[in-house]
Amino acid sequence: GCPGRLLELKGNIRVLCRLRPGTPSSLVNSEPGPGGTVTTCYRGHRHRFRLDWVFPPDASQEEVFRELEPAVLSCLRGYSVCIFTYGQTGTGKTYSMEVGRDLLAPGPPERLAVRQGPASQGGIQVAGLTYWDVPNLETLHQMLSLGRSNRATAATAMNQHSSRSHALVTLTLRAASPLRGSGTAGTLHLVDLAGSERAWKAGAVCSARGDPDSAQRLREARTINRSLLALGGVMAALRARRPHVPFRDSQLTRLLQPALGPGATAVLLLQISTRPEDLGETVCSLKFAERVG
Ligand code: ADP
Ligand code: MG
Repeated sequence: GCPGRLLELKGNIRVLCRLRPGTPSSLVNSEPGPGGTVTTCYRGHRHRFRLDWVFPPDASQEEVFRELEPAVLSCLRGYSVCIFTYGQTGTGKTYSMEVGRDLLAPGPPERLAVRQGPASQGGIQVAGLTYWDVPNLETLHQMLSLGRSNRATAATAMNQHSSRSHALVTLTLRAASPLRGSGTAGTLHLVDLAGSERAWKAGAVCSARGDPDSAQRLREARTINRSLLALGGVMAALRARRPHVPFRDSQLTRLLQPALGPGATAVLLLQISTRPEDLGETVCSLKFAERVG
């Protein structure tokens, strides 16, 4: 690895792609590494997508952390970093976001401490201190799992454990040392997006099964799709440095507006499946990445 790769790209959007391990398919081929590609063969068309980084299906969590770590550490220098996981339900978004937890406790435990802060400042503060405080780090873990269990989840046609909501964790990180006093606060936003599968699919299967909640689910799916579409629009505008960025197009993008301001780094971790039956969704996800990347 080459530390600092992401740091050089402040104020930009990086698109990383991780393939869900499973049965290898000749319909989804990847060239891992920097500037890696994913080639799909869908409805007789071959399409090659280029990304900033492609992880192989057997990539370990550590490999993924290593690529994200420089961006996370730039928070300690006062920058705002947003890490998004995007993809179809079941492709490993939440699994990869556990990234987030391990990144907060990398290497020797004395590097980070966590304390409760005033709600007005985000509730949790993580400080890179020269001493360690395991009970408080536990507190962070507890809070994250509490958040996870509070997160609205329900069975959908796609996956029993599908999350039909976005989960946002915002951490204020402050590099504090006895010499420097409290440093500039940076923010780290971990955004585990809801499944990107198209509304018609989830909705159609629900109504075919006579699911009494199908209307509600279809509404939810449409709201999710609208916010993901808006996020794509915002990222594409930021990437192209357009003067107008359509933050107001959804609640999600409104909420993230301060986080995606000038100088912020956004990392989109695209999670894709290689299963032949998921090919349509895989192509949609890659097209989303192509639009913002
Ligand atoms: P999503 O959040 O995108 O719906 P999950 O993160 O819940 O998907 O992953 C679905 C299942 O696949 C989980 O059981 C998870 O542990 C497993 N999984 C996902 N990615 C990997 C991986 N890279 N290695 C091993 N298991 C994985
Ligand atoms: Mg999930």
